[in-house]
Amino acid sequence: MGPFLRAEHLVSAGRDQTENVAGKIDAALTQLARARRIQRQSLATRHGLSPLQLDILMIVAAGEPPEPSIGVLARELGVTQPTVTAAVIALERKGLVRREQSAQTPRRTLVRLEPSGRRPAQADLPFVEVAGRLEPRLQEAMLEGALTMIAHLVEDGTLSVARTCLTCRFHRRDADGDHHCVLLGVPLARLDLRVDCPEHQPAA
Ligand code: SF4
Repeated sequence: MGPFLRAEHLVSAGRDQTENVAGKIDAALTQLARARRIQRQSLATRHGLSPLQLDILMIVAAGEPPEPSIGVLARELGVTQPTVTAAVIALERKGLVRREQSAQTPRRTLVRLEPSGRRPAQADLPFVEVAGRLEPRLQEAMLEGALTMIAHLVEDGTLSVARTCLTCRFHRRDADGDHHCVLLGVPLARLDLRVDCPEHQPAA
């Protein structure tokens, strides 16, 4: 094999390797998603809820943004408005939430948490405990990697909502690759990158 062929072979092997690693990341994320779904399902079942009902309680309990209207919750969760409406009616029957008209826009229905809805909404998620066991360097790399993938998914239209630093118009990266928030006027260490920022505004 001549030197040219060897170089070509190396380039092709490098590409294979990159594609292979991307495939492994995809497979690993699939396994994590499966584990998370199982944990979520078990938590929801323990509280007599469906996973969607639990998600709605958690979002409403976390506070704004998003505005807790049926339409915004549907967009946030990537499901249809009738699906959210049916889940909210079921939660209301269980005494965990109540529906009320928005004072500003009477046609808009807001979902408010009842005191009894707080307990399932604040249940510990075992996934957080598992992630907390990672050493800080690995947590940092995973957070930045996950946020970068989310930014690509927003760019290509797969995700419509993400209030993360890397999708925010106030985010800047300097020549060294360090992150900054020009709204808050502060550098952002990788561990400080936000996943759900109330000041977030989508990048153009
Ligand atoms: S406003 Fe929030 S999301 Fe945007 S860059 Fe600053 S900290 Fe990040």
